[in-house]
Amino acid sequence: MRPTTIIDTCRDSDHARAFIAGVASGCEGLAFVSTGICPGCETCREEYAPDATPDGFEQLWQSGEVFAEPSFSPCGCEICGSTLGGNFEPWHAVDDNGEIIHGDRACVDCLLYLANGDLPEKWEG
Ligand SMILES: [Zn+2]
Ligand SMILES: [Zn+2]
Repeated sequence: MRPTTIIDTCRDSDHARAFIAGVASGCEGLAFVSTGICPGCETCREEYAPDATPDGFEQLWQSGEVFAEPSFSPCGCEICGSTLGGNFEPWHAVDDNGEIIHGDRACVDCLLYLANGDLPEKWEG
């Protein structure tokens, strides 16, 4: 279940290759990389629903009452390593120990790539 399995799809341009390499190194050792809020993540619960219990938070998440708003940051993306500022969403993955990792900045390119396998038309590392 390593992310490298989705990395061998389409390599038709230099920037796509650079993007894929960036994602591969950003996600090294991680599995189940996904973007948005994670109902099992303590950091998200504290940030989005500090008064909710873990079960309550999951219910709020399922009903769509808590969701990740993209927020602007001048810092780059933690997944692909792009240094461009922009709007970022939180992201999550599972590490070698089975622990949920919480990240703060996944860029739109990574969002689309992880959701659909879409490669960016333009990308700068
Ligand atoms: Zn989280
Ligand atoms: Zn990215």
